[in-house]
Amino acid sequence: MPRPKKKRWVVSDPDVRYFKPRGVPLRALEEVGLALEELEALRLADMEGLSHEEAGKRMNVSRATFGRIVQSARRSVAQALVNGMAIRIEGGDYLRVAPEGKNFFCRNCNREWKIPGGYGHFKKCPECGKTIY
Ligand SMILES: [Zn+2]
Repeated sequence: MPRPKKKRWVVSDPDVRYFKPRGVPLRALEEVGLALEELEALRLADMEGLSHEEAGKRMNVSRATFGRIVQSARRSVAQALVNGMAIRIEGGDYLRVAPEGKNFFCRNCNREWKIPGGYGHFKKCPECGKTIY
């Protein structure tokens, strides 16, 4: 049985999901697919300038896995720009998290805290160590 793939965390869920070179008729157009988590990797590494280590943490993947995701993303985008291809942004294996941050509350000790950036599906309470969902 294949190991279930761990979901990557993304913050952005873009409205625009298709980029097309101007003046190329659709029937003549070739396209590359860019998974949503690849777009997120470009955003974190190239727009926010995070290290692979830090960006991997944000997406809930290892540094090495992040490196592979961002490399594949850059290859697809470069291919599209160089060859005049369209880019289709499509779903991958991801879990969307809130960009505005997420509030957590521990019923055990009544401690309240916030995780900035919206990353964090569940956490341990910083006060008593109980796991919060
Ligand atoms: Zn607690």
